[in-house]
Amino acid sequence: MVNKNYGLAIVGLGGMGNWHREFVKTIEGITVVGIYDIKESRRQFAKENNEHVYESLDDLLNDKKVDIVLVATPNDLHKEISIKALRAGKNVVCEKPAMMNSKEFEEVMSVQKETGKLFVVHQNRRWDEDFLTIKEIYNKNTLGKIYSIESRVHGSRGIPGDWRQEKEHGGGMLLDWGVHIIDQLLFMIDEKVKKVYCKFTHVTNELVDDGFRIILTFESGLTVLLEVGTSNFISLPRWYVLGINGSAVINGWDLNGKIVRVKNWEDKDAVPIRAASGITKTMAPRQDNTIFEEKLPIQKSELREYYRNVIATIEGKAEIIVKNSEVLRVIKLMEACTVSDEKETVVDFE
Ligand code: NAD
Repeated sequence: MVNKNYGLAIVGLGGMGNWHREFVKTIEGITVVGIYDIKESRRQFAKENNEHVYESLDDLLNDKKVDIVLVATPNDLHKEISIKALRAGKNVVCEKPAMMNSKEFEEVMSVQKETGKLFVVHQNRRWDEDFLTIKEIYNKNTLGKIYSIESRVHGSRGIPGDWRQEKEHGGGMLLDWGVHIIDQLLFMIDEKVKKVYCKFTHVTNELVDDGFRIILTFESGLTVLLEVGTSNFISLPRWYVLGINGSAVINGWDLNGKIVRVKNWEDKDAVPIRAASGITKTMAPRQDNTIFEEKLPIQKSELREYYRNVIATIEGKAEIIVKNSEVLRVIKLMEACTVSDEKETVVDFE
């Protein structure tokens, strides 16, 4: 039970702002009370959809019906709009990446403390079922000690031809997709990241990264490869996880994949196989009776939990799930990635 109906105002009714507009309709206790967008076509779209349209950001912030401001503009505007909204006494849900850098984020944090209002980032991909399935495998130790995780997102359309191609607006794939897949990893693995190596790609774009490869080394020696590609006409699996007793793969968003585990380490009858211009015993497939295949422990999720948690936190009944300290750590890791790419070196992190 929520105490009241919370009014949500959307700043920036683009692709994602509109996704929130439709999504909150399915959640009890929260209603869209209006939108503000600088683009006439988006204001027109809102009117056609019977939404109240504010004349200015100040007009929106002066409306007492607004309890929560959703910031869904291009990335470079998140800071300014969030600070204004907090100072106007509003709670803020801010799209990812929270800010352009850690300095901006710390500035917003100090205003948040001053005002006592909620500031929370929309790291919605913590609710992705592929991620939650890998998290389940990781937490349950299904594969034995995990020593390698590969998390990839591949497309072949380059970067969308909007502000995502422009550095000054926070374009580039590290800020776009990197922030999600780094957040997932840091949320899942309760260890320090010791080393960071990153190489950006510039296949279609010189000014911003259109993809990257990041290698993280955790305290225990666990290695994680994070990869985003936008010129990949053949996609590699979304997840590939190796433990000392087995491997897991999730191929794509449809959660198709499997686990293969060892039943018996002894595989005496291994005979060399022909491999291209030679033979190999090392790479010969195992005998069927020494391994077994399992289905993935598919996890179901409920993304409405995100907004329910926002409301419960405002009401003092819950702790926020997406914590600002976690968001800051992700931003700092992205900064380490940029340093690594620029200097072509491994960077010490924590
Ligand atoms: P978009 O370009 O489709 O929409 C941005 C909107 O902001 C546009 O309608 C634009 O007119 C408006 N705008 C620009 N300046 C403004 C201002 N000063 N005041 C009010 N409105 C303004 O972009 P998008 O894809 O919707 O991305 C918006 C944000 O959402 C970005 O931060 C992006 O990273 C994030 N996003 C998050 C997810 C997710 O899964 N969490 C997915 C996509 C985008």
